[in-house]
Amino acid sequence: MNISMILDMAAEAFGDRVAVVCGDQRYTYAELRACALRAAARIKASGAAYVALLDTASPAAPVAIYAAAYAAVPYVPLNYRLTAPELNELAERITPALLITTPEYGKLLTPRDDLQLIMRDEFLSLPDADGDTPQPSEDPRDIAVQLFTSGTTGKPKAAILRHENLMSYIVGTVEFGSADESDAIVVTVPPYHIAGISAVLSSTYACRRMVLLANFEPGAWLAAMRSEQVSNAFLVPTMLSRIVDHLQASGEAPELPALRALAYGGGKMPLSTIAKAMELFPGVDFTNAYGLTETSSTIAVLGPDDHRAAAASSDPLVQRRLASVGKPAAVELQIRDDDGKLLGPEEAGLVFVRGPQVSGEYLSLGSQLDADGWFPTKDRGYLDAEGYLFLDGRADDVIVRGGENISPGEIEDVLLSHAAVADVACVAIPDEQWGEAVAAAIVLHPGGSASETELQDLVRTALRSSRVPQRIVFKDALPYNETGKVLRRVIRQELAALAGAAS
Ligand code: ATP
Repeated sequence: MNISMILDMAAEAFGDRVAVVCGDQRYTYAELRACALRAAARIKASGAAYVALLDTASPAAPVAIYAAAYAAVPYVPLNYRLTAPELNELAERITPALLITTPEYGKLLTPRDDLQLIMRDEFLSLPDADGDTPQPSEDPRDIAVQLFTSGTTGKPKAAILRHENLMSYIVGTVEFGSADESDAIVVTVPPYHIAGISAVLSSTYACRRMVLLANFEPGAWLAAMRSEQVSNAFLVPTMLSRIVDHLQASGEAPELPALRALAYGGGKMPLSTIAKAMELFPGVDFTNAYGLTETSSTIAVLGPDDHRAAAASSDPLVQRRLASVGKPAAVELQIRDDDGKLLGPEEAGLVFVRGPQVSGEYLSLGSQLDADGWFPTKDRGYLDAEGYLFLDGRADDVIVRGGENISPGEIEDVLLSHAAVADVACVAIPDEQWGEAVAAAIVLHPGGSASETELQDLVRTALRSSRVPQRIVFKDALPYNETGKVLRRVIRQELAALAGAAS
C-alpha cells in the first residue's frame, strides 16, 4: 500500500490518456509516471529526507506527490501565501530537503546547506537517471504527506498522513478507472491544502484528466470549463459565490455544456449561494463534501439526490438538509458532549470520527486518537433522526457569555435569513459585564438595506436575548482565506478594537 501504486495502475491501464493539463502543458498518464520516476531518482541522489513544494498549482505538484512516494520520503507542500519568516521557520523543520519552487518564491527562503532548491522548470525536465528505478517503500505506515496547519492558534502543527490513510480514502471512495475519456476535473484548490492533494489522487485513480488553474478568478474558471469541456469541478464556497455573482452581474449565459458534477466544501456554504447555483446549472449533480486534513479529506457527503430532494420538497425537514453536510462516508461518526458522553439525535456536541483514513496524528505531538481510535474534530454539530450531520461551527469559535456557550452559527443562520444580508460572521468581543459578548460583521447585498436595530430584533425574536449581537458592523466584504474559511480571528480583532474605541 503506497500511493505510487495509484499512478502505476493508471499508467498501465490508460497510459495514453491525458492526465494533467496546465496552460499549454499536457502530460499523459505514461508521461506523468515517467516524469515522477525521473524526479524520484533526483530526490534519491540529493539525499533529501523530505520533498517540499513552494509554488502555485502546476504539473510539478502531481509529479512531486508521486516522486516523493517513489523515493520513499514525505511530500510537504508549503503555503505560498506565508511571509518569508514563516516560510523559513517551516523550512528549518523539514531538513534535509529538496524544495521545488520558482525564482519568485525561492527568493523568500534564506539559503542553507541542508535545503536544496530546484526550480519548477528544471524539476519537470530532468534527464533519465543512470541506475536502478527507485523502489517505493512497502511499509504502509510510512508518511506520504506532511501538511502544516495554518497556525492560527500557535506554532503550525505538522499533520501527517500515512500511505495507508490516503490509500484507504481513495480506494474506499473512488472506483478505479471509472472516468471515461471525455471526463475532466478543474482543480482550483491550492496544492498545499489536503483538497488539492486528494484531487490529484482521486483523479489519478479514476483515470480522469486534471485541469490545473494556478489562480482562481471566475472568468478564467468559466473559460477553462468551456475550452477544456470540463465535466467535474470542486470549489470552496467563496469561489462558487464569486462565480454566481459574476454570472449575475455580467449577464453572461451560464452555459457549461460538459459540466455534470459540481462538488463543494472546505467551509460553510451559504444557502442562498447553493440555491442560486442550482438554478443557474440545472441538471448538474451537486455534492457537499465535509472533510479535514487529519482525516485524509472527505468524511461526510450530501449527494446529488439529497440536493434535488431538498430543492423539490415542501417538507421543511427535507428542505433543511441542504444546510447539512450529509451522512458519514466510509467512516464512523459520533457526537459527544464536553464530558465525552455520547449524544443522541438533535443533540449538539463535538464531532468524533473513526476509520482507516483518519490519521489524527501530528509530528512531535503524536496521535490524537483516543484508546478506541476516535479522533476529536474541532467541529461542533448534531445528527438528525435520519443521520444527516449539521455543523454548528468550530469549538474554538464558541462565544462564552457569562458562562453560557453560544455558537455563532445559529445567530448567523438567523441573520442570513434577512433578505438584505449577503454574508455574516459573529464573533466574541470582550465585555466588562459578561466576559464576552456577541458582535456581528455583516455584508449587505448590493442595494440591500437593514438597520442595526432591525437585525437585532430579528435575532431577539428567533433566538433569545443573550444571542442578540451587542454590536453590528457593516462591511463591504468579509476576509476569507484561499480555501474558503472566513478569518474570524481578523474580524474578532477588528470588532474588539472598535468596541474598545467606543467604550
Ligand atoms: P488549521 O487546522 O490549519 O487551522 P483548518 O482547520 O482550516 O486549518 P482544514 O483541515 O483545511 O484545516 O479544515 C477542516 C475544517 O473545515 C473542518 O473542521 C470544518 O470546520 C471545515 N469544513 C470542511 N468542509 C466543510 C463543509 N463542507 N462545510 C462546512 N465546513 C467545512
